Amino acid sequence: MAYSFELGPIRPPSEAYSLLIRATINCPWNRCKFCSIYKERRFQLRPVEEIKQDIRIAKLMQDKIKGLSWKSGYGGRIKEIAGKVFNNPLNEASRNVALWLYAGGDSVFLQDANSLIMRTNELAEVIRFLKEIFPSIKRITSYARSKTVAKKKLEELIELHEAGLSRIHIGLESGYDPLLQYMDKGVTAAEHIIGGRKVVESGISLCEYVILGLGGRQMWQEHAIETARVLNEIDPDFIRVRTLTVNNKMPLHNEIENGNFIRATDEEILDEEKLLIEHLECHSNYISDHITNLLQEIEGELPQDKGKMLAVIDRFQTLPLEERANFKVGKRVGIYSNLDDLYDLHRHQVVEQVIYKLGQGSNQVDEKIIYTLMEGFV
Ligand code: SF4
Repeated sequence: MAYSFELGPIRPPSEAYSLLIRATINCPWNRCKFCSIYKERRFQLRPVEEIKQDIRIAKLMQDKIKGLSWKSGYGGRIKEIAGKVFNNPLNEASRNVALWLYAGGDSVFLQDANSLIMRTNELAEVIRFLKEIFPSIKRITSYARSKTVAKKKLEELIELHEAGLSRIHIGLESGYDPLLQYMDKGVTAAEHIIGGRKVVESGISLCEYVILGLGGRQMWQEHAIETARVLNEIDPDFIRVRTLTVNNKMPLHNEIENGNFIRATDEEILDEEKLLIEHLECHSNYISDHITNLLQEIEGELPQDKGKMLAVIDRFQTLPLEERANFKVGKRVGIYSNLDDLYDLHRHQVVEQVIYKLGQGSNQVDEKIIYTLMEGFV
């Protein structure tokens, strides 16, 4: 097991149990104001042979774990040995393989930020090789930029789908052009639509990510309404929302410091999410699988669950002021996960104590402290 392979810094939450194969390194755009993941890091394409070598090493790791299972008397059952390797890995690559096998070994995620920037024939070759080495894989997914997929021919996306690419994750972030421009996203709403529709037409499943709060106080309404319009035009399989977080490596941090961008509060962001959902007319699965979202229970199939999703927001908004404050702090420190948790007396009292400490004796907590608590999780 003295082998290793390249690993990138992130993957979507839904790919937490996927085998991670780094098809490219870092982000070829790397200019978005709200993103710090790849800042100061140079983008690199990787030679196909190098990526294949990583896949071969992952296969060796899988074979080793299988062999250990037989030797240890588990009769080839992988889960037990995978769990042991996960807890005591030789390196991060072996930990990833162990976690992947522990969870069933079904899916692969191609890192980093935009694998679709590879030549289509080379990416298809990597995907076919993955399926040849791991025939039991059921799902292969990747991040991509709208602009990149918009530039691909439909036939190229169909080629990737036929090779085995199951899903593309795209950071839509917003559908409002002035906001996309301000954030230096490097894509227009029209390009989001062209790229997204092409993915849907190719048969590849599409997941679009939206950042709640990205419009701040200045552009929240346009952000919500135009994002809904763009999503309605694309009609992706999944819409995943996450809430804006800011750290001091992001260019947006300076914009906030110099007063050009005013962050929306948790409650203002809920108004924005309400407006977004009200305007959605697509047939997507709306998922709130990110810890940064205040009300993660706002989930459902559109359009039929729209009323149910809006009712969650109403439920929060009609709570007394003190209960809303209690929930916001409880969620941000990880004591609550959903609104029902407010009725757990013990947890409620713990949150009251936290508020007392944070508020230095008062029962009010400053929004800046709430941002800091939220960002402590990310
Ligand atoms: S394209 Fe994605 S990874 Fe690249 S800078 Fe923008 S948000 Fe970050």
